[in-house]
Amino acid sequence: MPSTARIALNRPLRRLFDYIVPEGVTLTPGQRVKIPFGRQQAVGLVVETEVAPPEGISLKPVQSVLEKWSALPSETFQLLSWASDYYQHPLGECLFTALPPALRRGRPALEKSEDWWQACGNGAILPATAHKQKKLWDWVSQYDQGIKGSEIVKAGFTRAQLKALHDKDLLKPATTPGISSQSQLYRAEVTAPTLSPAQTEAACQLPSPDDGFNASLLYGITGSGKTEIYLHYLKKNLTADGQALVLVPEINLTPQTVARFKRYFGERILVWHSALNDSERLNVWLKVRNGEPIILIGTRSAVLLPFKALKTLIVDEEHDSSYKQGEGFRYSGRDVAVYRAHLNQCPIILGSATPSLESYHNALNGKYRLIRLEERAGAALPPSISLLDIRSRPLEGGLSRPALQALQQTLDKGNQALVFVNRRGFAPVMMCFDCGHMVECPRCDTRLTYHRRDRAMRCHHCDYQTAATETCPKCKSQAFKPVGQGTEQTEDILAANFPTTPIVRVDRDSTQRKGSIQTILQQVNTGEPCILVGTQMLAKGHDFPNVTLVVVINADGGLFSVDFRAPEQLIQTLLQVSGRAGRGTKTGKVLVQTCHSDHPLLKALCHGRYLSMADQLLAEREAGLFPPFRAMAIFRAEADTMEQSLQILDSIKRLANAPGIEVWGPLPALIARRADRHRAQLILNTDRRKHLNSLLSRICQTLEQQRIPKGAKWMIDVDPQET
Ligand code: ADP
Ligand code: ZN
Ligand code: ZN
Repeated sequence: MPSTARIALNRPLRRLFDYIVPEGVTLTPGQRVKIPFGRQQAVGLVVETEVAPPEGISLKPVQSVLEKWSALPSETFQLLSWASDYYQHPLGECLFTALPPALRRGRPALEKSEDWWQACGNGAILPATAHKQKKLWDWVSQYDQGIKGSEIVKAGFTRAQLKALHDKDLLKPATTPGISSQSQLYRAEVTAPTLSPAQTEAACQLPSPDDGFNASLLYGITGSGKTEIYLHYLKKNLTADGQALVLVPEINLTPQTVARFKRYFGERILVWHSALNDSERLNVWLKVRNGEPIILIGTRSAVLLPFKALKTLIVDEEHDSSYKQGEGFRYSGRDVAVYRAHLNQCPIILGSATPSLESYHNALNGKYRLIRLEERAGAALPPSISLLDIRSRPLEGGLSRPALQALQQTLDKGNQALVFVNRRGFAPVMMCFDCGHMVECPRCDTRLTYHRRDRAMRCHHCDYQTAATETCPKCKSQAFKPVGQGTEQTEDILAANFPTTPIVRVDRDSTQRKGSIQTILQQVNTGEPCILVGTQMLAKGHDFPNVTLVVVINADGGLFSVDFRAPEQLIQTLLQVSGRAGRGTKTGKVLVQTCHSDHPLLKALCHGRYLSMADQLLAEREAGLFPPFRAMAIFRAEADTMEQSLQILDSIKRLANAPGIEVWGPLPALIARRADRHRAQLILNTDRRKHLNSLLSRICQTLEQQRIPKGAKWMIDVDPQET
């Protein structure tokens, strides 16, 4: 009797497929195979072996085994199976997210080795006619360690020229300086600054690797030296053969962090993020899978990679909402990291100046150890925060007189300033001051955002755009002007007020146009007086030593939102952006413009004590029956009509009828129509998490069997970040 294996495919199906295992082949879970699927071939991952074959169905055999070893070692396999069950996402798609794109497509799991070249001999022997070759020889000569073939081509030379020089013995293949020999790994050159007494005290409370699973919440105010503590921790505790994972929200925004890690750990540092190309991903993946003793700095999805010897996990800025995947497999990278530490019985450090209410709650109830670091590192002091009431004050580009004066004073003293536009809910729209008309997206229930630079109006929820008109499209009035606040408008006003000062704008638009944020920030790094103006991107982790003033254009966006997380996110953003001020030796000042200067949350902000604000917010969450006191899941539906969406959710509501489960809705989503799709949602809320999980499994299984209208879709989001 041939044996049967159960195989997962990279498809959004809540089922697995059985295949016959060919004679003489043994399979293990997590192994990649090629199988016939319909009329095609597909790559599959073995889930189970030796299963009882279904009766009365003739199975096809596995076509080939892609490699002898299992792409997903058992710990990774277990992690992903857990995540599939917890987040109610089909197992196949979950397992495949742990593979780099090349392996999902069935490519061989082999390192794509780069060719490296070094100059040798004397280029002067080349005849004058071979001036291109001469140029190439000179160029390669600059690189003592050698240079990649791909870089040579990028610099404008050809493979033919390269070969010609190789044939003349003027270029020779160089050995890759990458992680080729382990002896190179541990040569970190810098002398680390000694930790301050406060840092030392915090560091002492961190668990030792022998303590098994242990989650610590490192609450350290902005600039308190958390990163330095991570570095010391790894240096002291990570054994020479161990792997570590450091999760960060967005690597591209803070390349400084990677540079700091590299200075300590040299080639042992590898990075994982969305900007890597396929072969880079494969190469990193192989090192992770082979158990090479690397320290991986990565974004969200790095937590799913097949580590072999994971000894420590660190989640920096653990409150950041980018840890939650917003589509498809909607997992929280932070929460999966905690589970993974548990699986590996190793320590995990969650660090933040503004911890999520979830993690803080876990610290309060003893699941995590709370470590507090409440002074800044070095000579820096925390910034002073004050509110600036802008009710009935004239504004220019969103800025009040006192704010402009404060900017002037800052520049006069030779310092830099940062103007923060809290764009959530405050994008500029075109409005007619005669008839009140505002231009809406024809495909979504939202207003179009006005982009001054190219005089266009764009929808931020679909890709619709149109040219801005001079007059009101409805009544033809000339009084058709932008209202609300955008970075471009603020930039213009700043340029007009401070004509000799460089104004540096940082937002999605400007970084897309100018490449990396680093090019943009060069101006700031000179230390010369300038004004940075931008959005959320500026709030994240940057170290600008010469910024002494932060002006927040408008704080009120999250105060009265219907989203239960909005106040938490507002406070986090404001404290994070405030934390950019006064990181050097000069004291920082933060001015927060608001129309609600008597709001308790904003008043508390001025004292800058995040944890007491968090206590207050937690009390509100508890009273409102919200997470982290309750477990929550949202079913979302979208279809060609609202009726269809509501109907799908109504049928889910009937399935969700169970004791202890509260069901809210179905209701149209906040943006009920997006790209002509009608969207609605249904919220499930309970204090019985286990119960919810099994209920959700049953509902999802049932739904998958049910017919729904053509073009309609439903999705499940467990522990949603947005409601
Ligand atoms: P965080 O991660 O908490 O924002 P960082 O680790 O980036 O803080 O530290 C903030 C600044 O203080 C950095 O410029 C860092 O180099 C400096 N710093 C951190 N620890 C020390 C120390 N022990 N001595 C001197 N400078 C330090
Ligand atoms: Zn009008
Ligand atoms: Zn739209």
